[in-house]
Amino acid sequence: MTTPEKKDAAAAIPVQDSQLAHDDPRTRHPKLDAPEQRQEEPGLDVKTEPVPDIGLDSYRGLGRLEGRKALITGGDSGIGAAVAVAYAREGADVAIAYLPEEQPDADRVLAAIEAAGRTAVALPGDLMDAGYREGLVEEAATALGGLDILVNNAGKQIISESLEDLTDQQVLETFQVNILSMFTLSRAALTHMGPGSTIINTTSVQAYNPNPMILDYAATKAAINNFTKGLAQQLGERGIRVNAVAPGPVWSVLQVSYGQPKEKLPVFGHDTPTGRGGQPVEMAPAYVFLASGESSYVNGETLNANGGTPTP
Ligand code: NAD
Ligand code: MG
Repeated sequence: MTTPEKKDAAAAIPVQDSQLAHDDPRTRHPKLDAPEQRQEEPGLDVKTEPVPDIGLDSYRGLGRLEGRKALITGGDSGIGAAVAVAYAREGADVAIAYLPEEQPDADRVLAAIEAAGRTAVALPGDLMDAGYREGLVEEAATALGGLDILVNNAGKQIISESLEDLTDQQVLETFQVNILSMFTLSRAALTHMGPGSTIINTTSVQAYNPNPMILDYAATKAAINNFTKGLAQQLGERGIRVNAVAPGPVWSVLQVSYGQPKEKLPVFGHDTPTGRGGQPVEMAPAYVFLASGESSYVNGETLNANGGTPTP
């Protein structure tokens, strides 16, 4: 029971003005005025201007994922990289999957995982390659000594002006990387998962509010929300939870490598209610929450982290 003295002492601690100012969502991260730029797909965070903030200098762990073992696809850069850094600092061993040409980004993340005192596993390969896709989870589980968190986060987003410009080949690739791989990887993960394990899928605000320049991408994101809700119902009785995170505009190389027309980059995210685009590090706490036991009664949910754009 709290004694009156203790209660008074707690009440007497003033909220620091500096802390409140630090937490102001409008200014917690800079409103970007990024230069027009373009990289070939998939591009590198380290060559993006400014370099996306994956929390290397700021994320502080509190032991929420002590002893857990996670595989994160697209864990080399952007949102997946921020999640990898956060998971390691929360106490998890982490395997990251990424395309071989993304090694310079992956090296930064692998070093951060090791600096947190955790095991880091590098699993380069292309999710378009069936052999890689089908063996990925097994490789991760072998290297980590088990697997209890799967973050399906790899994504492909390429703009096309009109349906006539959008080839079937691109539609197929976008669906394979963004959603079809989730079926393969989640199925394989179940071999290793038991009660308390979690699957977290990256969807997008595009699921409800499709930008007409990314028809294929937006359609996969709607499918991911639906897949998440369906699979959560199937796995609930096994004690395995399935959730999704739906980011709004987040500064990452995805946007710079044909994800947006380059003229849009200087005002990226300015039209959100918070007035700025997000940074990858701002997504990481949502993935930590959904992976940890703190969210034990959250299942089949999509956590929207988009600066305030209304969602259904
Ligand atoms: P990112 O480019 O840093 O990450 C995407 C990753 O997907 C790449 O690093 C790459 O490793 C992986 N990938 C792409 N094609 C692949 C392939 N063929 N094989 C294997 N891996 C492949 O960009 P990000 O913005 O951090 O994207 C991460 C996720 O977040 C994606 O699913 C994306 O759709 C989603 N998302 C991003 C935003 C945003 O504004 N940045 C908004 C909503 C959702
Ligand atoms: Mg990358």
